[in-house]
Amino acid sequence: MSQSFPIEKLQKIKTPFYFYDMDLLEKTLMKVKHNADKYKYVVHYAIKANANVRILEMIRSFGFGIDCVSGYEIKRALEVGFSPKGIVFAGVGKADWEIELGIDNDIACFNVESIPELEVINDIAAAKGKVANVALRINPNVNANTHHYITTGLQENKFGINNWDLEKVTNAIGRMRNINLEGMHFHIGSQIMDLSSFRQLCVRINELQKWFISHRIYPKIINVGGGLGIDYDEPEVNPMPDFEDYFKIFNDNLDLRADQQVHFELGRAIVGQCGSLISKVLYIKEGVKTKFAIIDAGMTDLIRPALYQAHHKIENLSSVAPEEKYDVVGPICESSDSFGKQLALPKTSRGDLVVIRSAGAYGEVMASQYNLRELPKAYYSDQV
Ligand SMILES: *Cc1c(COP(=O)(O)O)cnc(C)c1O
Repeated sequence: MSQSFPIEKLQKIKTPFYFYDMDLLEKTLMKVKHNADKYKYVVHYAIKANANVRILEMIRSFGFGIDCVSGYEIKRALEVGFSPKGIVFAGVGKADWEIELGIDNDIACFNVESIPELEVINDIAAAKGKVANVALRINPNVNANTHHYITTGLQENKFGINNWDLEKVTNAIGRMRNINLEGMHFHIGSQIMDLSSFRQLCVRINELQKWFISHRIYPKIINVGGGLGIDYDEPEVNPMPDFEDYFKIFNDNLDLRADQQVHFELGRAIVGQCGSLISKVLYIKEGVKTKFAIIDAGMTDLIRPALYQAHHKIENLSSVAPEEKYDVVGPICESSDSFGKQLALPKTSRGDLVVIRSAGAYGEVMASQYNLRELPKAYYSDQV
């Protein structure tokens, strides 16, 4: 049934908490590295998926760069020892102090989303006598076929520069002395399972490359973002995404010049499957039509189900009795504090240890203290 969870040890720890399988993380990183290296692709881990220091240390040890979306994430990356040369900084609303932090540390690149932002970066760089490298985040109008809250590459989204504005943007950059246009940046969404979206992205990039060349602009870096999805239904069957096919799509479909580099920003695909949220059953409550398993983890520990109707596989580690149907809910005073309806679990009782799988990405890092709860702690397979 389940992954090798050290049940006896986990039972002694105060729930709820995150549990990370460091062995699976390492194997996943090895697979990413092996397949990216084939094509000399550069990977920046998207730290917003999970900023846990032990996880970051392991990722750093593989030589990956890091993709940040706030000054706080840049600080964390520097603290953990990532080189500023491997830091890229994205985000539609960078504050002045965040831009200063990036420029002071000579980070590799700002992924820029608007002319007003370019102007501020140019001014701050000028005041410091520096030149900032930027990549333009272009909205490719490609549908990621994922949940609408995590679709980012359509024209109606707030992200990126639309193609009809490109001429204006590149003209503006031409007048800015402290900006160096180094690349194009894309990110079409998250939890993308339909790889044809990435093929479409390549087609759009090839078209845009022609536009840039016709304007005698030669971006060195093509940053295709992240978004590769993981299998939330059967983490056992697919503990890692198919990185081989994923990178091959870009190799097969991107038209590159000899001096161009392709960069990736994978988050979920790297850390999603290695993390689990461990919880205990508090009560079984008989409802009118359904039985509730009320657990001690809530949306404050893992908000994905409440925020975008995400499904996580749930297992009862303590029971092997015949299955019954439960709505698995948390203790928070919100009706959306539910982890799944009518789930088949072995007959469940108070005190049973429950695991919510595939919680390594956008889990611990999104935890809140609503209801003044404590933030969940993290434990690691090599340390329990
Ligand atoms: C969130 C984000 C990523 C990572 O997305 P995943 O789906 O976790 O791979 C990469 N790039 C940018 C710009 C992002 O905002």
